[in-house]
Amino acid sequence: MSRAPYSHQEVVDAVVIGTGAGGAPLTARLAKAGLSVVALEAGRSFVPDDHVADELAADIYWMEERLSGGADPTAFGSNNSGMGVGGSTLHWGAFCPRPDARDLRLKSLTGQGADWPIPHADLIAYVEEVEVFTGVSGPADYPWDASRRYAYPPVPRNASADAMARGCEAMGITATDAPAALVSRDRDQPYWGQRQACVNCGTCHQGCRNAAKTSMDTSYLPFAVAHGAEVRSQARVLSFDLDHEGRITGVVYHQDGEERRQRCRTVFLCAGGVESPRLLLNLGLANSSGQVGRNFMAHVATQVWGRFDDEMRMNRGYPSSLITEDMMRPAEAGCAGGYLIQSLGVLPVNLATQLARGAGMWGARLQSLLHQYNHMAGIGINGECLPHPDNRLTLSDETDAFGHRKARIDFSYHENERAIDRHSRQVMTAIWEAAGAQDIFAIDRSAHTIGTCRMGENGDEAVVDADGRSFDITNLWICDNSIFPSALAANPALTIMALSLRTADRFLALSKARAA
Ligand SMILES: Cc1cc2nc3c(=O)[nH]c(=O)nc-3n(C[C@H](O)[C@H](O)[C@H](O)COP(=O)(O)OP(=O)(O)OC[C@H]3O[C@@H](n4cnc5c(N)ncnc54)[C@H](O)[C@@H]3O)c2cc1C
Ligand code: SF4
Repeated sequence: MSRAPYSHQEVVDAVVIGTGAGGAPLTARLAKAGLSVVALEAGRSFVPDDHVADELAADIYWMEERLSGGADPTAFGSNNSGMGVGGSTLHWGAFCPRPDARDLRLKSLTGQGADWPIPHADLIAYVEEVEVFTGVSGPADYPWDASRRYAYPPVPRNASADAMARGCEAMGITATDAPAALVSRDRDQPYWGQRQACVNCGTCHQGCRNAAKTSMDTSYLPFAVAHGAEVRSQARVLSFDLDHEGRITGVVYHQDGEERRQRCRTVFLCAGGVESPRLLLNLGLANSSGQVGRNFMAHVATQVWGRFDDEMRMNRGYPSSLITEDMMRPAEAGCAGGYLIQSLGVLPVNLATQLARGAGMWGARLQSLLHQYNHMAGIGINGECLPHPDNRLTLSDETDAFGHRKARIDFSYHENERAIDRHSRQVMTAIWEAAGAQDIFAIDRSAHTIGTCRMGENGDEAVVDADGRSFDITNLWICDNSIFPSALAANPALTIMALSLRTADRFLALSKARAA
């Protein structure tokens, strides 16, 4: 995916590092504004036909080693970030609730966590723009937001969703079809072509073969290229050239076995919640606040599973087809913030891994459960995680193939995460009992890589300002999971895409003001 290449000698307006939810929308926006933009992506380029509905064969994940510590170590590998043109949107689940207004003001409202330095209405305007551009399916009436409209009707529910609907109804909990970043009817995607309607195959996490699912390589990136941007794949960024004032003048990267550099005026670092801080820590840059790597957050993602008499066959159907937001402020849970519940559809290898990792199941017990795969179903949460400075990414003594020190991430639940975990276990167990499940059990789990370069009002406490601009290096901007000051209960990708467009607009406005 490329236009005619820019030359390395040319000083381009912007280099974007990473082409996921954080990097792609702003690449498109900057190119549309007429800027010369080069996006450098460590992973390779895919077309939808490359994706294989096979858990073991899919190669769209960031699989380089990351060390994990703390009392509640979070799992890395195929379940945590992507590698390829499109980043984690190649394999994400496309479950896309909007950020809740109360979550952006958590500190003001509860005294805990952190406020976002961005008004909710500002963010939602960009969320709506992303939803329109990418195509989102959802219910005609969203119970927790009367004003909301989705362009496409929901896809049919899978068996886990039907069970969750039954259980919720019996308990008086409102549940509805989940907002999903997929098209339920054929759609002509500008500058890419026809995305076919979702066929409910259930292999979203292995990549969508018919492009029904929103992914950056079939949406924002083709738009960017059509407006003059260049995307260089398998281009791994290793360092920056700096001038005597500490501004970045070029980006050094590894491609085709050699070191290359692209001269530029501005850099947008969008390498994700682990790789962005790791690069900065390895280079000793943008960290006068001491906050790079700190406040790592992973959503509380506890799951509850059970066995049903009926066949569930959860490998079939869009995996996350039902949602309830009734627990966004759960009474008597004793926590700040709250959580969403979603129905699940998990393929066998993923399930086996989760059972071993999160429920300590091995040997005969694990084998016996896996034999019951066709009768099993689960539900899970995405719950608030508060920032704590001691939950952090540091550099280990081990180095990778490029000589950079590997990331070590220490993560422990604090009381708020434990309260959400406790409350959600009770609620989900009750839902599953009401739905008719037997042999119910819970899995410990956290998800997503958030925080580590947080945005804030001043450079003593934050790495970037509310626009995503580094306090230390004036021509460095960061936009990805890493800049979230708090986790928000909503799954992150929609918010990241919205922030990405906003960051581009703030950059363009600043450039215009300077030129005037
Ligand atoms: C299994 C799974 C399911 C998920 N499901 C959902 C969901 O249903 N809903 C939701 O909202 N979120 C979901 N997420 C989370 C969501 O996908 C991510 O939060 C989001 O896509 C992250 O966007 P990002 O831009 O921060 O990073 P990424 O999308 O990970 O992009 C970073 C990119 O930078 C590249 N890169 C890194 N380092 C370098 C370097 N040095 N040089 C060049 N390139 C580099 C990487 O290869 C990658 O392509 C899911 C995540 C996983 C793992
Ligand atoms: S379930 Fe739908 S969105 Fe997911 S991979 Fe299959 S066709 Fe694509």
